[in-house]
Formats: sequence, C-alpha cells, structure tokens
Amino acid sequence: MKSDQLTEAYQILSHTYTTFDQTDDEWMTNGLSDTPFRSLVSVALSTMTTSKRTIKAALALYETVHTFEQLRDMDEQELVHRIQSVAHYNRKAKNLKTMAAQIIDQYHGQIPQTKEELLTLSGIGRKCADIMLNFVFEQPAIAVDTHVFRVVNRLGMVKATTANATADQLNQITPAEFKRHAHEWLIQHGMKVCVARKPHCEECPLTHLCEYYQEHVLKGLTQAA
Ligand code: SF4
Repeated sequence: MKSDQLTEAYQILSHTYTTFDQTDDEWMTNGLSDTPFRSLVSVALSTMTTSKRTIKAALALYETVHTFEQLRDMDEQELVHRIQSVAHYNRKAKNLKTMAAQIIDQYHGQIPQTKEELLTLSGIGRKCADIMLNFVFEQPAIAVDTHVFRVVNRLGMVKATTANATADQLNQITPAEFKRHAHEWLIQHGMKVCVARKPHCEECPLTHLCEYYQEHVLKGLTQAA
C-alpha cells in the first residue's frame, strides 16, 4: 500500500470508529485498567482468552489483590483458583508471581516503561508490552493481536506472516499522527467488519484501498457478471 493510501485508510478508520475512552469499553467499565497494576495483570491474564473470561478472572483476583507485593505473596493455589477462567491458568499463576517479584526486586516496585524492559517480565510478550506502552504510558506503539494482524495483512498495509513481524512493519510505516489510536480503530474493524471467516466487505469503507478485496472479492464479482 502506498503512503498516501495508508494515510487515507487511517483517516477513514479514524472517522468510522471511536477510541475506547469514548465508548463503554468492557475492560474500562469493569475496572480492569483502573491502575497500572491492574492494566499489567489484566493484560497478562488476557492472552489466548476471551474478554469475558479475562474479566471474570481479573475481578475475582482484584477482590483481594491490589499490589505487586500481595500478588507475589499470594498462595499459588489460591491464585490458580481465582484465575481459572483464563487459558493456561496454572502457567499464568506462576508467571504472575514471578513478574510481581521481578518488578519489586529489579524495578523498585515500578512497572518499567520501555519495551525492552517490559519484555524481561515473566509472561509479558510483544503484544502485552505494546498494549502497556500505548494505553498506560501513552506512547505511540501499535499492539498487534489476531484482529489487527488479519486486517492490516488483508488490506495490504503490511506483508507479514507473524504478529511480531506485523508489529515491526506497522509501527515503522504508520504516520505518527495515527499511532496513538491505530490499535483501537483496527481492532474494532477486525471485530465488526473484517471478521475472520468471511469479511463483510459489502459494509466496508476501505474496499477501494484493500488488496484482499481487489484480489479475492472484486475478481469474483467481475467473473460472475
Ligand atoms: S474490504 Fe473486506 S477484506 Fe478488505 S478490509 Fe474491508 S472487510 Fe476486510
């Protein structure tokens, strides 16, 4: 995709979708991102797990745990019990306790604010680090989850086969003015219109810019006519 098309695509997305703080985002309404502590723990819980299950586990955990010290010192079986609605809850319980200890011992109790440091934390991968940088520390980092990965590759914004390579390319090519909210627009587009199994191209305002549409949908329509 050429740079003027990229800019146009972001302009359309920015006019089509709101940002999370303007909507009734379920993470925000349930308090999952009320504090940096909650944001980090919630994001660590959320990998490979639906929002509904993440919220269930997070709310059960935040009934009694409010600090990294409490998380580090919590009985592991009790932690497992509280977060068992998320995928890989045994491993996540271990990772959460290790992460809490790392933050206390290595970062003086403060969540680090660089990607490199965030990636040293147990259970925190590239997507989680970018979410923390973007949403908590308000840095221009675009987190790539399964929805963002699908949308930007279909559009032809990037050409990559992994989420990390997609994140590298997307962060490199996205104009600075769109980086802060790009994740929010792209994820909504992926959940509402450019869905996984059969994208709703007939409802999409980006068809004229989209490689997938030009190559797979438009060709089919032309051949059928
Ligand atoms: S035109 Fe279709 S494939 Fe392309 S972004 Fe829109 S919904 Fe997705």
